[in-house]
Amino acid sequence: MPAPAGHIPLSVPEMGGREWEYVRACFDTGWVSSSGPFVDDFEKRIAAAAGTAHAVATSTGTAAIHLALLIAGVQPGDEVVVPSLTFIAPANAVAYTGAHPVFVGVDEYWQLNPAALATFLETRCEMRGGVCVNRATGRRVAAVLPVDLLGHPVNLDEIRRVAGAHALVVVEDATESLGARYRDRPVGAGPSVACFSFNGNKIVTTGGGGALVTDRDDWAARARYLSTQAKDDPIEYVHGAIGYNYRLTSIQAAMGMAQMEVLDRFVERRRAIAARYRDALADLPGVTFQPEAPWARSTFWLSTIRVDPATVRPAARAGDSRTLLAAMTAEGIQCRPLWQPLHESAAFPGAESFDVEDAEAVHRQALSLPSSSGLSDADQTRVIAVLRSTLGGASR
Ligand SMILES: *Cc1c(COP(=O)(O)O)cnc(C)c1O
Repeated sequence: MPAPAGHIPLSVPEMGGREWEYVRACFDTGWVSSSGPFVDDFEKRIAAAAGTAHAVATSTGTAAIHLALLIAGVQPGDEVVVPSLTFIAPANAVAYTGAHPVFVGVDEYWQLNPAALATFLETRCEMRGGVCVNRATGRRVAAVLPVDLLGHPVNLDEIRRVAGAHALVVVEDATESLGARYRDRPVGAGPSVACFSFNGNKIVTTGGGGALVTDRDDWAARARYLSTQAKDDPIEYVHGAIGYNYRLTSIQAAMGMAQMEVLDRFVERRRAIAARYRDALADLPGVTFQPEAPWARSTFWLSTIRVDPATVRPAARAGDSRTLLAAMTAEGIQCRPLWQPLHESAAFPGAESFDVEDAEAVHRQALSLPSSSGLSDADQTRVIAVLRSTLGGASR
């Protein structure tokens, strides 16, 4: 749907080049459903981008996370550590397995805090016969599910070290960080399994879709099996487990192939947008950016500022993130707060949480700005002008 004139959206797809050509090839060859060369090629392309041996394409990113938890051995009645500050999908995926999320707070980069994770495991849990058990609930803590929030990679080496010491599997939610780098490697390589999303507002899109990546042959095979109804015999329709219909279609994969060809350009563009916002707003008191760690190369999926009411200029028309949100919305500029911290969500009443004050503070103050790779310089100039005038900065 075309945006109304003058409206500047938060994050919308950009057709980067050969989408139509490839989708047309699906129709011309009859490969439109969930088998065919495009799905295979798309999986190879994702594995190559992530630096992993395997990729398994799925119908959504949420489905990829669900499968990742299953192949990682998460069982009903287990617990899985999830950051409190995230879109709800990873916590929902934990619930789909019958396990319980435990919500832990964030670090200075707004990512799952490895130190808080360690303190939670050391003070509230104990090892019993090689298994990490939450003392209060008596449940096994099976896995940790860090999320690369807003495209910024988590401190994975630290999280892996802590997880390893407590026999937890690491499943990385990299749905916002395809194309990011952690130290010297692409996001996706490193954890036991990582998940991507190709939802419409992500870095690259298939309209809807996802993938998991892993180096383990057995896990990739198991994910593929579970994603196709766990079919043991394709002629007699004999099934060996409760499976899911989680496969991506060929049409979606064809679109994804074209999008993956321009992934690097899209990431560069999002980074340039973030850098321009940072420069243009640097002199405004009370306004800071999601910081980028020295070991990280974020996708800056959504450029996100933090507005501290205590230090914003007295002359500002908006002194906090929600007043600013209303002012931007009135100008036709789509901004968005971060997601309600999950320890406050009605979806998970009574869930355990640990060290979540920073998650609450970031949630109160953060606002994501228009970040589409297709955002024009003129539109970004307008966003900046409205931000500056609303926050009490002189125009520049
Ligand atoms: C987008 C997103 C997902 C889910 O992806 P879908 O493809 O929409 O199912 C999961 N986790 C996070 C953090 C996301 O931003």
